[in-house]
Amino acid sequence: MSKDELDFDIVVVGCGVAGTSAALAAAEAAKEQNRSLNIVMLERTSVESRGGNSRDTAAYLRMVDETKVADNFVEEMLEFSEGRSDESYIRTLSDKAGETLAWIKENGVEFDYLPTLFLTANRPRLLPVGGGRAIIDQLAKSAEKLDVQIAYNSSAWRLGVGEDGTINEIWIRGDDGKATKVTTKAVILATGGFQGNPEMMTRYIGKGAYKIPTISEGGLSNKGEGIQMTFDIGAKSSGQLDSFHAEPSDPRSNRGDAAVMTYPYGILVDQSGNRFVDEGISTIDEQYESVARRIFDLPGHIAYAISDQKLFSIPNYENALQTEKPPIEADTIEELAEKINIPKEQLIKTIEEYNAAVQPGDFEATNKDGKHTVGLTPEKSNWAISLENTPFVCYPIQCSNVFTYGGVATDTKARVLSNDNYPIPGLYAAGELTGLYHGKYPGGTSVLRGLVYGRIAGSDAVDYILSQ
Ligand SMILES: Cc1cc2nc3c(=O)[nH]c(=O)nc-3n(C[C@H](O)[C@H](O)[C@H](O)COP(=O)(O)OP(=O)(O)OC[C@H]3O[C@@H](n4cnc5c(N)ncnc54)[C@H](O)[C@@H]3O)c2cc1C
Repeated sequence: MSKDELDFDIVVVGCGVAGTSAALAAAEAAKEQNRSLNIVMLERTSVESRGGNSRDTAAYLRMVDETKVADNFVEEMLEFSEGRSDESYIRTLSDKAGETLAWIKENGVEFDYLPTLFLTANRPRLLPVGGGRAIIDQLAKSAEKLDVQIAYNSSAWRLGVGEDGTINEIWIRGDDGKATKVTTKAVILATGGFQGNPEMMTRYIGKGAYKIPTISEGGLSNKGEGIQMTFDIGAKSSGQLDSFHAEPSDPRSNRGDAAVMTYPYGILVDQSGNRFVDEGISTIDEQYESVARRIFDLPGHIAYAISDQKLFSIPNYENALQTEKPPIEADTIEELAEKINIPKEQLIKTIEEYNAAVQPGDFEATNKDGKHTVGLTPEKSNWAISLENTPFVCYPIQCSNVFTYGGVATDTKARVLSNDNYPIPGLYAAGELTGLYHGKYPGGTSVLRGLVYGRIAGSDAVDYILSQ
């Protein structure tokens, strides 16, 4: 983008699934109406690093197939949020999911039922082949074919409004640190959450939250300016600002998404050697988030998942271990305690009591098998198998931040709402920076909503401009 063309009809900010959908949908809508509109995408990073969280996700979609969302999609999203999420937003998401996936497919992305990291799951999950990165690469390619420009190393940080309150400019900073004004008729913000901003993590999520690592590097690009910019001009917030989607991961790993989802087949202990949760309370997809949150609340923010060699006879166990680091192994409990720096006597007591409490029954790794303990606090409800086939196997586990829940409020046309619930003319938002979730995250909905609402934002922004 050269300095003499800093005037665009539509500025899309952020190159993840939401931003690329928005840019392509806007370009297509303009073409359909035989109008030539100048559209630019601004992206903080480089072409290689673009895409924030979208580039790192396998992108499970809460869909039965390419046309249909999972059963009870709307009801469960409402239930998980205890009725706090916006029902009209969720209904539109559900209604438009199928047609949006068909559109993504037309743009070169295939979908399939690929193996997932959940060995037990409560919901079907469809995946794009190549993950989130395939989606952004294909949508960006299609958008560029329709003359959408992409300006890299351009971080947006301030919106400008005209005397009548309509959006008319956005300010960016490039790698020389200087600020530049871009004039425009509409802005679509798709800059992700604030997990990459320690100041906002502390401000909204609280004391110590700055220590929660992002699950992968891409999340560090999401520093919350999109949210801040809208709040600065009187936009309304939405979603649970003091929470985030949590995932258990291996703190030793250098990989993005080093998830450890095998702990239901053993026990979890804290640094003093005590169990603290029912590791088998439900299928892994239904419980890993709350376990990760419990781990963050523990001293040192760390837990240890201890299994024995039976772990390695579970079919596809390696899918549930996304870490590249080998387990810590030990022939005796004493040796293991020493290696992970836990009091020996307590770890011996915990494992002996656990083994003694295991009830007979058939172990079934991929279904809730009801094989449980009796007489423990907390009990273990499923997959209670004794720990005895040495060497013992141990993975340290921390709580990682996948994305933040709180953000800006939008309506079903992806228009940013003011504190008085009126759409702010010319301002749209989609994806993670729009607040939606409360409480428990309904898995497989974040990429989907980025795609659906990005597409809505792009096409509505064109209608808005052409109606002026
Ligand atoms: C490891 C991992 C696994 C996940 N698994 C799933 C899953 O299976 N299913 C699911 O639905 N969701 C999953 N998620 C969540 C999901 O990937 C994200 O919520 C979603 O991709 C967010 O898309 P987005 O377009 O809103 O933001 P992002 O993809 O994060 O894109 C934001 C973009 O904006 C850019 N940007 C940020 N600030 C600025 C600025 N000020 N100026 C210019 N550019 C800026 C960033 O560089 C980035 O390119 C996962 C996430 C991760 C990290």
